[in-house]
Amino acid sequence: MRVNVSRRTSQRDFAEHVGAVQRLRRDYAALPADAPVRLAKPTSNLFRFRDASSAPRLDVSAFASVLSVDPVERVAEVGGMTTYEDLVAATLPHGLMPLVVPQLRTITLGGAVTGLGIESSSFRNGLPHESVQEIEILTGSGETVVARRDNEHGDLFHGFPNSYGTLGYSLRLRIELEPVAPYVHLRHLRFGSAAEAMDAFARICAAGEHGGERVDFADGVAFGPGELYVTLASFTDSAPWTSDYTGNDIYYRSIRRYAGTGPGDYLTTHDYLWRWDTDWFWCSSAFGVQNPAVRGLWPRSLKRSDVYRKLVALDRRTDFSRLLDHYRGRPQQEPLIQDIEVGVDRGAEFLDFFHSEIGMSPVWMCPLRLREKGEPGGGHVWPLYPLEPDRLYVNFGFWGRVPMVPGQRKAHHNRLVEEEVSRLGGHKSLYSDSFYTEEEFWRLYNGEGYRRLKHAYDPQGRLLDLYAKCVGNR
Ligand SMILES: Cc1cc2nc3c(=O)[nH]c(=O)nc-3n(C[C@H](O)[C@H](O)[C@H](O)COP(=O)(O)OP(=O)(O)OC[C@H]3O[C@@H](n4cnc5c(N)ncnc54)[C@H](O)[C@@H]3O)c2cc1C
Repeated sequence: MRVNVSRRTSQRDFAEHVGAVQRLRRDYAALPADAPVRLAKPTSNLFRFRDASSAPRLDVSAFASVLSVDPVERVAEVGGMTTYEDLVAATLPHGLMPLVVPQLRTITLGGAVTGLGIESSSFRNGLPHESVQEIEILTGSGETVVARRDNEHGDLFHGFPNSYGTLGYSLRLRIELEPVAPYVHLRHLRFGSAAEAMDAFARICAAGEHGGERVDFADGVAFGPGELYVTLASFTDSAPWTSDYTGNDIYYRSIRRYAGTGPGDYLTTHDYLWRWDTDWFWCSSAFGVQNPAVRGLWPRSLKRSDVYRKLVALDRRTDFSRLLDHYRGRPQQEPLIQDIEVGVDRGAEFLDFFHSEIGMSPVWMCPLRLREKGEPGGGHVWPLYPLEPDRLYVNFGFWGRVPMVPGQRKAHHNRLVEEEVSRLGGHKSLYSDSFYTEEEFWRLYNGEGYRRLKHAYDPQGRLLDLYAKCVGNR
């Protein structure tokens, strides 16, 4: 990782960046026009697995570092393919962090902006793209433009979130940063019903405090219909102790242990930001990593979400789990890996549906409210992912497999979730499988607005279309 900690991007770094942009434009122009464009990236957090294609890939490695951090203006200039792990490593020494840091270390800034991100600061800071000031984009037509809220490419700036690299690729972003304290104090509140947990989110997120303590972060976990936890975290300058969940101890299990205890729990801010990565929330259990015997042997450096994701990709390529289930006579399993959000007032309904119809747990819960205020009576600020301004939503994340019953339609449980989310007026993230019809998809994700942007920035259709990419899995 290269980090320039000077206040301004140095002339040399800027010249290097300009040279890299020129090379990328040449490489892009040289790609065969009849093959889909693919990025050559060492990591991905997408959960749509394609057949390993032999399509030529665009080398974007020159855009994977932090160009500068300006601690006075509290902004950073960042290559579009920079991972949040590298970004946070560059900003924390200045006592600063990006306004929203998605939980998985190898999510990149460009990926979170084009594919949407969320974390426990989202109830006060919105989504990662809302603290972006400017984006340099290689468009589908092969030009580079700098898009800002208020310049001639404002339409692309606002339409970039949820375009999943189908309008262009971000090469450099300028983002806001916010100050941090060295430690975080966690309080886990237990609730006996989804309605009570949703009420708590609504109340606490509106007040920004709980029990006289300011709340900087809020998320939660539903372990079942009658056992839900809301976790509140607050910056603090000192801590009586700090827990460590990167070794034998497991963060999501600590929630039950610490719930209701007077002092709560303490983490360094660094460890708080990556608390979910070590065990990929709870999904590391699929590899035995939560079994004490295996955990002791599994190196700390390999307890990371990107390692587990590579194992899942290998499993999908080899069909190992499916064949194992088949030979053991177990029912086939349907992967159900999704993040959705509904208004907080519909959250209990969603969870009740989920527990009765799907029956998978735990479920991650994270409140969010757009940071950007809409114009009264105006359209949506972020047209391709139309959330209402000034409304608190709750994101629900569930990542696992559900036993299939013979005779069920293909992707039955995924489709049930899509139908319920639509019924509740919510939205589904597009990083995983989707099964919408084309008509329904464009109704939900603003087909008209998307087509205008596509026509302006990728008129030859050099990049895939959003439906073909996210539903057709091309
Ligand atoms: C189990 C699981 C849990 C998740 N939980 C969360 C969560 O809690 N919070 C959260 O924020 N997200 C979460 N995600 C989703 C994740 O943020 C998205 O998948 C995100 O788009 C991944 O970004 P990436 O940087 O890994 O990009 P990639 O996976 O490499 O790419 C994602 C898409 O974006 C495009 N793309 C990549 N880089 C750029 C760029 N620079 N410019 C334009 N387009 C680009 C690619 O073409 C691709 O279509 C989760 C995903 C999984 C699988």
